[in-house]
Amino acid sequence: MNCATPFDIGVLTDYWSAALMPSEEEKVEEHLLSCDFCGDRLREVIALAEAVRSLAREGSLLMVVSDAFVKRLAQEGLHVREYAPPRGGSIACTVTAEDDFLIGRLAADLSGAKRVDLSLCNAVGAEQMRLADIPFRAGAGSVAFQQSITYAKAAPSETLVARLLTIDDAGGERLLGAYTFQHTRTLPGPGAR
Ligand SMILES: [Zn+2]
Repeated sequence: MNCATPFDIGVLTDYWSAALMPSEEEKVEEHLLSCDFCGDRLREVIALAEAVRSLAREGSLLMVVSDAFVKRLAQEGLHVREYAPPRGGSIACTVTAEDDFLIGRLAADLSGAKRVDLSLCNAVGAEQMRLADIPFRAGAGSVAFQQSITYAKAAPSETLVARLLTIDDAGGERLLGAYTFQHTRTLPGPGAR
């Protein structure tokens, strides 16, 4: 199975996302009817597009993420917005309609820690959610988590305090660091009134 005039992957991608001019689209369609080789390549393009879409859906979960994960997102061409407030300090943050992922990076000395919890608190310090026993690398120097982009895009202006805690064998907590995110609600885009 072969093809003398295979389409460029970019053309097939544009075909799948309906971005071709009608005349060009017709040409591709006609060719695909008789060429299994290009049909197979189109199926590969579709599978890749679906993989990227499902990756984007993962952006709706609040979870701890690895550096490799964040790197992969950027490689897939997804829009990643990352904030790294200083330990003990705060940062102003927001999210736009174009963003796919919202990452918070918390710098901390994790060496010697056995168990680390990520506690998310409101402006007055009341815990709203806790991710217990999160994955971390002792030498990493930071923990990255993603806030749900779906939540963030709809959220009002609000303050989130993230706290990293180590838990010792006896269950005692020790604060590794507190990080304040001062979120400004997503401003309406050009289409809004
Ligand atoms: Zn072909």
